[in-house]
Amino acid sequence: MDDVERRAAEIPGNTITMATEYDVVVIGGGIAGCAAALASRRKDKKVLLLEKLTVLGGLATTGHIVIYLPLDDGYGRQVIGGISEELLRLSMNYAYYAGDISSWKEQGRRYECKYNGPAFSLALEESLLAEGIDILYDTLFVGSEIEDGVCKAVITENKSGRSRYRCKAVVDASGDAEVFARANEPCMAAKNSLAIWSYCTQGADTQYQKRGGPDGPGLSLVSFGKIDTQAFKHTVTVPYYGDTAEGINRFIIDGHARLLNHMKAHDDFVPASLPGMAQIRMARRIVGRYELSDKDAGRHFEDNIGGTGDWRKPGPVYEIPYRTLMTGNLKNALAAGRCISSSGEAWELTRCIPQAALTGQAAGTAAAIAIERSLFVQDIDIRQLRETLKRDGMILDVNH
Ligand SMILES: Cc1cc2nc3c(=O)[nH]c(=O)nc-3n(C[C@H](O)[C@H](O)[C@H](O)COP(=O)(O)OP(=O)(O)OC[C@H]3O[C@@H](n4cnc5c(N)ncnc54)[C@H](O)[C@@H]3O)c2cc1C
Repeated sequence: MDDVERRAAEIPGNTITMATEYDVVVIGGGIAGCAAALASRRKDKKVLLLEKLTVLGGLATTGHIVIYLPLDDGYGRQVIGGISEELLRLSMNYAYYAGDISSWKEQGRRYECKYNGPAFSLALEESLLAEGIDILYDTLFVGSEIEDGVCKAVITENKSGRSRYRCKAVVDASGDAEVFARANEPCMAAKNSLAIWSYCTQGADTQYQKRGGPDGPGLSLVSFGKIDTQAFKHTVTVPYYGDTAEGINRFIIDGHARLLNHMKAHDDFVPASLPGMAQIRMARRIVGRYELSDKDAGRHFEDNIGGTGDWRKPGPVYEIPYRTLMTGNLKNALAAGRCISSSGEAWELTRCIPQAALTGQAAGTAAAIAIERSLFVQDIDIRQLRETLKRDGMILDVNH
């Protein structure tokens, strides 16, 4: 048998155990996953980042969402720092440079920017590889091996077949709580309305939001579908759910049909690309040890890992408790990004790009501390986590 035949013969059936044991495996290469991987790696952990697509950034690149929402509270006070601020700068590194962030306050601008998705994605990959993070693309996480509540290994499927990666901790940055849901931990889905954001080279008129910015390379981002998610409490005539294959498929096909109908009705409309991910805002999230909700606006939590303003208006500010990243039973897994435990208006804020980076950094840092101290993620010293995050640029106690 030659090498090609031998490799082909290995594919079906058996799960191959990979030789390398990782400290932290991060599921999902969206903004939360990238931030988590960076945070763990910077604590000298061996990190594997698994991504089912072929680029980094998740919704924030492949999903055509190219607005890095504000890091401030709307009154000029910066409330998010750390890796989130670093990634905001990175998003502008190679394209759509928007000036020096430090002067934005004087200019009366919020700490936000528009960026070029592909350029941001390449910049993310360059950074993560430079820091020594192993990235595995085109690889689907399909389950975990759990013993006494501890995830010992994650199972993947890709062109090489089924593989088993041993690990000490897992960060679920899948956007929809894949790790927790497959481990039968409590999760919940939300009702979404139809949305499709698509680039076009021609034909975006004022009827639709021009979001690529005038400085874009002849591209406009047109958005169909108003924001009437669960959090906004608007009536949703046809609700879409992102926690079943059928629901996601219907969302994608209905979105495509909407775009096609628009194209048929507007001769001047020339689409340039379609989103590579379902643009579902709130798919599925964990029901964590604490659920951040509307009543928590302005409230102080002793275990906060950072906080967030409201991208729509000045105030209110929410502190995000560490407990929103974990459930009761999985002892070495943390959620990050849009699938943390958050509901209503609070979910409307914690699901966004800056906050995904914030919770990603917190999860990656906490996982590293848990490994160093041989503790479960629920049992780490919260003071140590907070001191570490603060040293690494995170802004804590925004309501204190
Ligand atoms: C229509 C719409 C408009 C929005 N507008 C804005 C905006 O203007 N500004 C803003 O800041 N935010 C906006 N958001 C929200 C924001 O884009 C996302 O919530 C945020 O980027 C989520 O980041 P994440 O890393 O948590 O998840 P995701 O971006 O979803 O990343 C998850 C990653 O995990 C991968 N993955 C999933 N399952 C698996 C698996 N089983 N195996 C391997 N990989 C897997 C996915 O491919 C993906 O790359 C918008 C969202 C939508 C849908």
